[in-house]
Amino acid sequence: MSKVPEMFGMMVFNDKKMQERLPKSTYNALKKTVQDGEPLDLSVANVVASSMKDWAIEMGCTHYTHWFQPMTGITAEKHDSFIQPNGDGVIMEFSGKELIKGEPDASSFPSGGIRATFEARGYTTWDPTSPAFVRDGTLYIPTAFCSYTGEVLDKKTPLLRSMERINSEAVKLLHLLGKTDVTRVITTVGPEQEYFLIDRELYDQRIDLKLTGRTLFGAKAPKGQELDDHYFGAIRPRVAAYMRDLDEELWKLGVLSKTKHNEVAPSQHELAPIFTTSNIANDHNELTMEIMKKTAEKHGLVCLLHEKPFAGVNGSGKHNNWSLSTNTGENLLSPGKHPENNNQFLLFLAAVVKAVDEYQDLLRITVASAGNDHRLGAHEAPPAIISMYLGDDLGELVQSIINGTDYVSPRKERMQTGVDVLADFKKDTSDRNRTSPFAFTGNKFEFRALGSALNIGCPNYMLNTMVAEELSEFYDALKDADDLNAAIGALVKKVFTEHQRIIFNGDNYADEWVEEAKKRGLLNLKSLPDAFEHFMDEKNVKLFVKNNICTEAEFRARYEIELETYSKQINIEALTMIDMAKKNITPAVTAFVRELTDAALAKKALSDRIPTTVEENLIISLSNKLVCFVNLTSELEEAVLNATNFSGDGLKLARYYREGVLTKMQELRAVGDSMETETAADFWPFPSYSELLFSV
Ligand code: ADP
Ligand code: MG
Repeated sequence: MSKVPEMFGMMVFNDKKMQERLPKSTYNALKKTVQDGEPLDLSVANVVASSMKDWAIEMGCTHYTHWFQPMTGITAEKHDSFIQPNGDGVIMEFSGKELIKGEPDASSFPSGGIRATFEARGYTTWDPTSPAFVRDGTLYIPTAFCSYTGEVLDKKTPLLRSMERINSEAVKLLHLLGKTDVTRVITTVGPEQEYFLIDRELYDQRIDLKLTGRTLFGAKAPKGQELDDHYFGAIRPRVAAYMRDLDEELWKLGVLSKTKHNEVAPSQHELAPIFTTSNIANDHNELTMEIMKKTAEKHGLVCLLHEKPFAGVNGSGKHNNWSLSTNTGENLLSPGKHPENNNQFLLFLAAVVKAVDEYQDLLRITVASAGNDHRLGAHEAPPAIISMYLGDDLGELVQSIINGTDYVSPRKERMQTGVDVLADFKKDTSDRNRTSPFAFTGNKFEFRALGSALNIGCPNYMLNTMVAEELSEFYDALKDADDLNAAIGALVKKVFTEHQRIIFNGDNYADEWVEEAKKRGLLNLKSLPDAFEHFMDEKNVKLFVKNNICTEAEFRARYEIELETYSKQINIEALTMIDMAKKNITPAVTAFVRELTDAALAKKALSDRIPTTVEENLIISLSNKLVCFVNLTSELEEAVLNATNFSGDGLKLARYYREGVLTKMQELRAVGDSMETETAADFWPFPSYSELLFSV
């Protein structure tokens, strides 16, 4: 562990290795492509490929793979070896063409109907902005994925395009403000990742966890998270060993894993990396989730990334910390000492405020999933209502701009720790409002509504594009101004006035907020089907088409894919429940009732003076519940069959799954869980919540 600096990035073909191994002209050409987005020459690619291959072979590789992020949300790979026939034997070859372009047979990836099977070909194209790396004897090349006819089929391409859009709009605006030395603006992201760790042997006994990632039955454990004794608690040895291993694996892959701690729920943890460029953060987050699962196997554990593995305790989210920075090293969301006079900051802040208000539906849509629907609005994660938190200082500044009054900067208060040996520290002026879905935290925004399993590409391309759109409007409004300062002042005032409804600094969990938000005209889209009513709204389609992120057909394809996934996931959950109910729970309760009956009869045979009321009461209670349970199982079976009536309309089908199937599942679960509390542990067919949550 003393060798962390040497270990860091050892599995990555990073800038340092390229500088060492590539001819200077090749290195410079590649750098130009990465920094300025210039197209790459095949002759350059040939040299890069050959050097990459030599390094990979030294690292023990025999294969390479184009690594991509299809619409399934998880990554995909197809491995090819480097071998080329040569006389009787083989040589190891890797050409620039193979580096630049791959052709996986892509017919089975979701395409939302934009691609027929007869034209199933899909292409992967090298993304030189994200470095190649080695894993398990294979050279991984990050790529973007599109169809034969050029339609975008992945999560990465829109992100890369959105980064270009926000770059050009931000640079234009900065030049207008006189910052002509800025030539590039990048978006930065630091995603904090929550997860659960549970024991492998227990996991193996839970078919629901294996097939759906969450428990579909399970009575509450006597203890949950009410004592708050897990949050930031001491990390137990088995978990600590896992985390140490995980950090090492991630560091080797160049992932800036920084912070680790226990989270609110028992067995729940978090990992936060140091932020980096959005697309690398995206690749790294995908890698992190994969390595988390893989490392768990080595420790006899399973890492659960589902948003709600256990009812009754917190689920898992992902906080998307987002900001903008320039090639000159400036954070564009940094307020500085005097934000009231900082035109640049005020303009970028106003752009984000306007974007979040105008596209609140999109922000809700982008975090919607079958799993995350269990969290949003459940008093543990931000609510389904999108609003922004600016903190007291900034909130006051915005108010003073709206009212045209003077703003007195409240100099940062000193926090008195009251303990002499501890230095007093400055109180963070944007106090952390943990309940806000979109919070300003000093020099970045933290979008907190993401689910733990989500690919961060989607929320980030949407966020980037909407802010790019606002910046472009701002530029148009300001570019011909005679008095730029006055024009900026007027514009910022107008934007804050028109969009102040989106700013809310109070408690987002309070019932009054739901009422207040309604009065303000904010959307409250409680579930994925509710949110997806707005997906294809004209303004949303226009946003992405106008900014060249995707075509209307590609956007619709995304809509269809997400809806289909949602319905399929609930369908699998319902079928799994039916299976557990019929094959495990009903037989188990029957057997226990039989045991109770035998015991009662034996007592009676021995003497009629022995009371059997305990057995009899339990037999009555469980038998009644079992009748109800079996009936509800049949009803659920029927509900699943009825889904065929809605096929053909993705949104109607999704709504049916939520209203017609999910609600039945909840009813069945309630009876099942109640039977669990009355059935002897030896008879219950699945490990209990106490075992699952308190064994590691
Ligand atoms: P917390 O949210 O727990 O208070 P921090 O505020 O320390 O934690 O940071 C959370 C995350 O925000 C980290 O991943 C950090 O790297 C990231 N972050 C910090 N600055 C930026 C920035 N300018 N752009 C994007 N992410 C950032
Ligand atoms: Mg956070």
